[in-house]
Amino acid sequence: MDYYSTYISRLIEEFGRLPGIGGKTAQRLAFHILNQSDEQVKQFARVMLDAKEKVHYCQCCQTLTDRDICPICSSDKRDKSTIMVVETTRDMAAYERTGQYEGVYHVLHGAIDPMKGIGVNDIRLKELIERLKGDVKEVIVATNLGVEGDATALYIRNLVKPTGIKVTRIASGVPVGGDLECIDEVTLLRALNGRVEQ
Ligand code: ZN
Repeated sequence: MDYYSTYISRLIEEFGRLPGIGGKTAQRLAFHILNQSDEQVKQFARVMLDAKEKVHYCQCCQTLTDRDICPICSSDKRDKSTIMVVETTRDMAAYERTGQYEGVYHVLHGAIDPMKGIGVNDIRLKELIERLKGDVKEVIVATNLGVEGDATALYIRNLVKPTGIKVTRIASGVPVGGDLECIDEVTLLRALNGRVEQ
């Protein structure tokens, strides 16, 4: 039975589709929205639409940005010959917070995961191969440590090694299965500095 107006039910349904949002929270958020002023709700909707419309992939590193080339790729203070490969823009942000990494990044937007049907062509590997034609001295693979991240790291290693470019992998100081985003800066730096040639 539908206790609510169809409009409310639909709102609850949409919130329920968001990651980590269960049925109760979806209801709470829907009613919160209905209790806000028209202006607040319009503002919220506008911010979401703007973000979706304006944000796209950096033409170089593939991170999410509202410019053609992101601020890191366009900075002349960054060492373009060192590319750190990460799974997500959030992982990249985690390394940026350490304030110690001076190279650039490449964001894959995922990892190879045969169980979920995510293959080589479903993540941004082609774009990485393209970048290797430039002046690159080292590729640091910082995919998450775990089955998918390891499979991706191995694939990248086999891809980069024959080109003569140095390939390293972040050290196992990062807990297995650990989400890079949730790891503190000291641990991240230790993993980066302890990287091992593959
Ligand atoms: Zn970029």
